[in-house]
Order: sequence, then structure tokens, then C-alpha cells
Amino acid sequence: MTQFSRRHFLKLGAGLGAVGLMGFPLISFGAAAKVVVIGGGSGGATAARYIKHYDPSIELTLIERNPTYHTCYMSNEVLAGDRTLEQISFGYEGLKKAGINVVIDEVTTVDPAAKKIATAKAEFNYDKLIVAPGTDLKWDAIEGYNEDAAKEIPHAWKAGEQTTLLRAQLEAMPDGGVVVITAPANPFRCPPGPYERASLIAQYLKEKKPKSKLIILDAKPSFAKQDLFMQGWEKLYGYKTDNSLIVWKGLEDQANVTKVDVKTRTVTTDFGDTVKADVLNIIPAQKAGKLAFDLGLTGDSGWCPVDFKTFESTKHKDIYVIGDACIAGAMPKSAYSANSQAKTAAAAVVAALRSIELPETSHINTCYSLVGREYGISVAGVYKVGTGEDGKTSIIAVKDSGGVSAKDADDTTRRAEAAYAHGWYKNITAEMFG
Ligand SMILES: Cc1cc2nc3c(=O)[nH]c(=O)nc-3n(C[C@H](O)[C@H](O)[C@H](O)COP(=O)(O)OP(=O)(O)OC[C@H]3O[C@@H](n4cnc5c(N)ncnc54)[C@H](O)[C@@H]3O)c2cc1C
Repeated sequence: MTQFSRRHFLKLGAGLGAVGLMGFPLISFGAAAKVVVIGGGSGGATAARYIKHYDPSIELTLIERNPTYHTCYMSNEVLAGDRTLEQISFGYEGLKKAGINVVIDEVTTVDPAAKKIATAKAEFNYDKLIVAPGTDLKWDAIEGYNEDAAKEIPHAWKAGEQTTLLRAQLEAMPDGGVVVITAPANPFRCPPGPYERASLIAQYLKEKKPKSKLIILDAKPSFAKQDLFMQGWEKLYGYKTDNSLIVWKGLEDQANVTKVDVKTRTVTTDFGDTVKADVLNIIPAQKAGKLAFDLGLTGDSGWCPVDFKTFESTKHKDIYVIGDACIAGAMPKSAYSANSQAKTAAAAVVAALRSIELPETSHINTCYSLVGREYGISVAGVYKVGTGEDGKTSIIAVKDSGGVSAKDADDTTRRAEAAYAHGWYKNITAEMFG
């Protein structure tokens, strides 16, 4: 077993400069500590693997309610018919092989004072706990839309059976039908996601049901990568012509949907306008996953405040919150962000267990979106802890880092970005699930 001194650890960390970007080398310290990760999605699976990587002596348990994880990323390709659900499905064998004790069960309670976790079948103790429960939908946000309604009118904002349901409805829709997607106000999981979805459903309609229309009703006045999406829609789907396959209406067009009639698949905006759909996809506003509320980890906003350097909860000591559920300043709620935060939280947990100072951290995020099968665009950012515009400490975008795809890029570049999107997907899922 390799023993590293405190000085050596700091030197290594500082040399790497950015834990989120590069990760620590293999380090092991000896005494077994107990760490539990709840949630085996993008954030939790990454955190578990990196804790084991940083310190293999840690007794590490990952508790996840489902035996199979369906990535939301690339689920829009499933809706388009370009990918199967199996191709976005991952099990936990890779994590088990890495020496992680994987428990498939739902966590029902956590006692932060006693450091005890209960599931339906067992109890666990921890020294440090990482919580990555993702998001839940705000069922009270749109009148008439609740868990029962979602069985007929999918949100498909958690991949799996909801993705299959929406795909089946698209396939059953006759040519000439109207697809309506409602998009929520910020912040929500994957800011460009509704518009990638609209694009790839439009691709399917163009090829199979060209007389159809797709209408996006948005609760926002603008959206992520809007210029690039609209440029792609002009090129591929006749946007801005009388024959456009896609119609986008934002807040300024009074398109904030407040009510749904499930039977007639009709939505009503807060100005009383109604739109009837053949296929209706409601993406409601979101909040941190239920577990975060049950544990008292959330603040007034419905998301979890954390120490920006370590991701330790400001509500409960020794509990770290990562991924969509946490408040991470300028970082968007994405799988790449969750993955980046997980590496920092894993390093922070290991450092805290060994009373070692965590070196300065930074993060990255790239969100690729497919506007068409061979048409990719992206937004990238580098982030660090710093002072935000309001004068408060936050995670801020590093000045002059990142940016969006060039507006004047040629077809070869757009094709290359679509290929990068697929490459990113292969790499990140391999890193998470093995
Ligand atoms: C259509 C769509 C497209 C997207 N595309 C991209 C993209 O291209 N790039 C990108 O970076 N991001 C993308 N995202 C966003 C990405 O999916 C999320 O941001 C990311 O998965 C968040 O990770 P997380 O770990 O916080 O939550 P999740 O990945 O949702 O994981 C949470 C896990 O916790 C488990 N859990 C919750 N409560 C309990 C409990 N009580 N007990 C046990 N287990 C529990 C859940 O079962 C789940 O597996 C997309 C999202 C959508 C909807």
C-alpha cells in the first residue's frame, strides 16, 4: 500500500490544479472509513468510482433504487427512432467490479445526528455521505398535471418507461398531427434539452409524417443556444417559412402553460389561449429529488445549498450534495456538471477523512445538442469558486473560457460536433458505469 504524506497529497493536488478536470492519482491511507453514496445516477456513480479510486481502503456503499439506469442524455435520439432504450441503459456490474458494495434499494430515512441510513431492507452507518438524488417534478406547477396524468401525457424528463411512452405516441400519431412540447422556466435539468427534443422529433416527423407540426410553448422569453438552434431549424425544418415544421412561442407570446386537460390533450396558457395536441409532452418545473427534502437539505428555492468548494451541505455536516439537486452557481444542471462535481466531492470526502486540505478545484461542462442526425452544436464552460456579480461567493464561469459553437460553422463542423456528442456519451457513460 502506498503511503502519502500530507505535504505530498497537497503537492499532487496543487500540481493538477483542477480536481474536477483531472482527478487525483491513486492514493491509499490505510484505516477503513465508511462512506455511503445515495443515488447511482450521473453524479452518484461517478462519486462512488472516484472515492474508490482515490482511496481503495474506504468501505464504500452505493444505494440506488433501480437496478437499471437509463440516461436522459441521448434519450431524445430514442424519441427520434435513432437509438433504442437498451442503448441508453446501464447496470451496476462495473461498479461492483470496482469493489463498490452496490445495494439496490430505496433509502427511506437518514438520521444525520446518528449518521444512520435506513432502506426498506437494511440499515447502514456512515462517516461521510454523498447524496445525488437528481430532480423531481413539481406536480403542482401546472393545473391538471400530476403523476396519474403523466401515465397518459408523458414528461419523459426521467428516461425509461416515460421515453418509451412518448415514442409510442409519436409512432401512433397520424401524418398531419400536432405535437406540443411545453418547456419550463429556469432552473431545470438540461437547459438545451427541450429544444434538442423538438429538433429530433421534427427530424422524425420530416422523414415519416411530413404534414405534421411541432409547437413549443415556453415559459421563458429565450432559451439556451437559441440562435444556433433556430439557425439549424431554418436549415433543416423550414423555420421562419410558412411551411415550418417547428413553431416556438415564448413568454413574450404569452405561452406560459398553466393548465392541462388530459382527456382532450389541450393546454391553456395564463392568458387563456388554448392549444390542442395529438401528442402532448409536458415538461414541468422541477426541484431537488424528494430525498433532499426529506433530509432537510433544501433551501427556500427547492434546491440544496452547499459549500462551493467541497459540496458539503450547509444544512448538515458530513453530507455532501452533488448533481441536479445542489445549487452550483453558474453551472447548468447537466450530467457533465454532475460528473465534474462528483470528482470534487469525492476528493473533498477523502481529504476530510484524512484531515488534509483540499486543493483549489475547478469544473468543466460541455452540453452537446443534436439539431439533426448530422448536425451538432455545443456550449462549453470552465468554472471555479469566485465572487459572483452580486458580490457573494459562488461557482462562477472563468472569464474568456468556453463559449458556444460558431454561428458561421460549415456542414463539416456541424457533422463533426454530432460525432463529438456521440463520443462524449460513450466516454462519460464508460467513466460512470465501467
Ligand atoms: C432529455 C434530456 C437530455 C439530457 N441531455 C444531457 C446532455 O446531453 N448532457 C448532459 O450533460 N446532461 C444531459 N441531461 C441532464 C442529465 O440527465 C442530468 O443533469 C443528470 O442525470 C443529473 O445527475 P444526478 O446524479 O444529479 O441525477 P440522476 O442522474 O437523475 O440520478 C439520481 C439517482 O438517484 C436515485 N435516487 C433518488 N432518490 C433515491 C432514494 N431515495 N433511494 C435510492 N436511490 C434514489 C434515482 O433512482 C437516480 O438513479 C439531459 C436531461 C434530459 C431530461
